[in-house]
Amino acid sequence: MIDYLQLLESNGVECVPSGKDRVFICCPFHIESVPSCGVHLVTGGWNCLGCHEHGAFYKLLSKVANVDEQTATLMLRDSSNMESVIKEISGNLNMEKEKTVKRFIKVKSFNDKFSLPSESKKDFVKYLRSRGVDLIMAQTYNIRCGVEGDWFDRVIIPVVDFEGRMLGYTGRSINPKVQLRFKTLRAYEGAMVDALLGVSWFKVNVFRDQRVPYVILVEGVFDTFKLQSLDYYTIGRLGTNLLTGNQISYLLGLTNKIIIFYDGDKSGIVAAEKTKKQLEKYFQVYNISVEGKEPSDFTGKELKNLLSEVI
Ligand SMILES: [Zn+2]
Repeated sequence: MIDYLQLLESNGVECVPSGKDRVFICCPFHIESVPSCGVHLVTGGWNCLGCHEHGAFYKLLSKVANVDEQTATLMLRDSSNMESVIKEISGNLNMEKEKTVKRFIKVKSFNDKFSLPSESKKDFVKYLRSRGVDLIMAQTYNIRCGVEGDWFDRVIIPVVDFEGRMLGYTGRSINPKVQLRFKTLRAYEGAMVDALLGVSWFKVNVFRDQRVPYVILVEGVFDTFKLQSLDYYTIGRLGTNLLTGNQISYLLGLTNKIIIFYDGDKSGIVAAEKTKKQLEKYFQVYNISVEGKEPSDFTGKELKNLLSEVI
């Protein structure tokens, strides 16, 4: 794990122990001679009793080491043995894995079952356009059309994991006038908890092994598509559970910076804060979820304004 004490001391900060996992330092955000800024040595979280500054460790480190926050984040990553961190967080998951056999949907059987969208399927094309997805994007994500049975008049969206393997798919009704028991149907083989929507877009737009300056995490499929269509590096979670070890490992390979943009309902707001806490150990994290609003409620221009504050 990250040795916060070593990071502080190697930058010339005098640390006064207080309890088992805490030290006090002279706050770098205001002038003082008696240390009043408490730093938790397990989480790296800190809080100044004098000026009330507080936050994630990278912010403190950037101040005491006199570097920008991006560099501080890199220093944090270098100081931790990332491999052991990844091992630790995916260790818990491996235990679960032993109990459940991983299964995936074969792309060929999926392609056989559902047909490709084309200009001739006017209702499908119209619906997809209304959600910001054109035919080229539909091809990238392998979005399909349901034309019979339970899947009639639904756009079918594959749900993939971090390696692009198909865990399942969801079918969204394209006809709001028809009364349906389920607006969205889901079919799955693999654990949907590992879902990372829109990863196929990364494969097309980002070179292999290239890192990106940030990743925006959203809850659902169409939020993912909308932000990706505006060229933002975006990944969909399919829900708001905390991230799995697999997902965190994948993201560590991709970026230093995570921007959480969940729906602004009560559960989304709570989940966004919890996820921020979870990820702060590994990334520079921002939460830009807006109470009472979903990402799809914003126009392209509003999104650009909102995101320009953190990107
Ligand atoms: Zn202070």
